[in-house]
Amino acid sequence: MTTSYEKFGLKEVINASGKMTILGVSKVSENVLAAQRFGGEHFFEMSELQVQTGAYLAKLLEVEDAQVVSSASAGIAQSVAAVIGEGSVYHAYHPYTERITKREIVLPKGHNVDYGTPVEVMVGQGGGKVVEAGYANGCSPEQLEMMITENTAALLYIKSHHTVQKSMLTVAEAVAVAQKHQLPLIVDAAAEEDLYKYSKAGADLVIYSGAKAIEGPSSGLVIGKGKYIEWIRLQGKGIGRAMKIGKDNILGLTQALEDRLANGSETGDSMKKRLAPFIEAINQIDGLKATVVQDGAGRDIYRASVKVLERSAKEVIAELKAEDPAIYTREYQANNGIIEFDVRAVNEEEMNKIVTRLKAIM
Ligand SMILES: *Cc1c(COP(=O)(O)O)cnc(C)c1O
Repeated sequence: MTTSYEKFGLKEVINASGKMTILGVSKVSENVLAAQRFGGEHFFEMSELQVQTGAYLAKLLEVEDAQVVSSASAGIAQSVAAVIGEGSVYHAYHPYTERITKREIVLPKGHNVDYGTPVEVMVGQGGGKVVEAGYANGCSPEQLEMMITENTAALLYIKSHHTVQKSMLTVAEAVAVAQKHQLPLIVDAAAEEDLYKYSKAGADLVIYSGAKAIEGPSSGLVIGKGKYIEWIRLQGKGIGRAMKIGKDNILGLTQALEDRLANGSETGDSMKKRLAPFIEAINQIDGLKATVVQDGAGRDIYRASVKVLERSAKEVIAELKAEDPAIYTREYQANNGIIEFDVRAVNEEEMNKIVTRLKAIM
């Protein structure tokens, strides 16, 4: 069978870099593909599909309600629109109306990052006006609180390695500020592994990206308080239409999340075991010295760290990408002459291809 790589003249990609949007984020399991296939081959009463998968996910995640959306970015935009519109159908039809002035979304300045798209572009798409609290190097609960006015619609907290971590208030502290002022708190936890922590901490809405830690298809998930999830569903009559998600991916994400809760993600021990023969093979190549290293942020992730001797690591990285299959690695240590291989989405056959290519390059 002709693959899409051949049909469209695309390079096959081996992703040894991690979960990267530029490479398509994740591969999905057979189980998830089967759920997507069932979705693709059948019709549904779509509003019921959304409500019932949401209720099912909410039960698994111990929250009041949930809604599958097309991406975490769509989750941000629709959550913002929801807290501004507060269930008004007039607002759903006129999302940017001047009749509504309570549009300020307060977030720490160090959270207004560009994750591939600036946070403030998604807030703006939802009709929100970003108000930054604190400074570039930190934000205290007091600094967050002092930016609240009668036009504040919600507080927003971005939980991510992309943000400033230093001198930053915690989610629990943001919850306390939100509750004191009876404002909703939206937490963007798009790439986070923990699917319980932020709602348990008291966030009103928590947003996840479907293809990152959950390893689902292209999708997003918003979980939280029933009232706010209702208001998000209402956006389907307005701005949400441009962010529609298909039945196949609603079912695929639901299955992926269920599988993930049942099986967890791959353990560090399993990664180390799979890495052992890979490292041994690389160490047979002249000019390369491979070891296992743990993730710099201390997560239970292990990678191959390969020191390139007598050549520039950047050159080797460029050559790995140049041919077909294109091999993408983690490049953060290239300045120190080190190439890192993240094998979470790399199987044994692909590891062999990487070794073959490294031999040819060296
Ligand atoms: C990846 C990411 C997003 C966007 O997720 P999509 O599902 O790709 O829209 C939003 N916020 C943060 C912090 C992210 O890391």
